[in-house]
Amino acid sequence: MGVLDIVVASGLTVLLLRALVLRLGYTLGSALLALVFGGLGLWRGLGPGPGWLLWQAVGLLTVTAGEFLLALRSGVGIPRTDVGEVRAQLLADCRSDEGRQQLTLAVAPWGAVMMDGVWRDTRRRDVVIVTGGCPVCLVEEVTAELAGPDAKALAAYRRDRVAGTNRMVVLSRRVGGWDAALERVRASARPFRQVGCPVHC
Ligand SMILES: [Zn+2]
Repeated sequence: MGVLDIVVASGLTVLLLRALVLRLGYTLGSALLALVFGGLGLWRGLGPGPGWLLWQAVGLLTVTAGEFLLALRSGVGIPRTDVGEVRAQLLADCRSDEGRQQLTLAVAPWGAVMMDGVWRDTRRRDVVIVTGGCPVCLVEEVTAELAGPDAKALAAYRRDRVAGTNRMVVLSRRVGGWDAALERVRASARPFRQVGCPVHC
């Protein structure tokens, strides 16, 4: 087993661990790396290298194709709404007596905004892809509007995001205002990076 085979085997192992254990999901970079190492693995495994490289490569390419399809599917059928409209609707609802009693906001790693609402007798999850603005700014602005710009949770949300950890903001109605708290994101904790936002790129 030559140096090249060791490099290919290490690359395949790291990428497989990334996909299966860390579950970081599909990104263009990870897909390109998977194609490069998967291709090298197929070549070495079928040809001059050890045969088991073939199975590692097939495994990685299959997992990557699955991640790609999942990413594709999760972006289809989700409404796209102007960011200002979403913000105005959320704030109007949260400020009306019959509106949400609790609002949980999170930005998925691929950019959609999750909005879990609890009304007096309903609870519902809405997912939206915002256009014309940045989803992370939306979460921060709504939090600042409801809980105040000095809310501790807002500062913590920004700090954690910069440190590479995505969070959910849980806004709860109390007498005379709203409280904000943070919760961990269960799926992927990788924060979304908005292209074109001067704050969140
Ligand atoms: Zn932003």
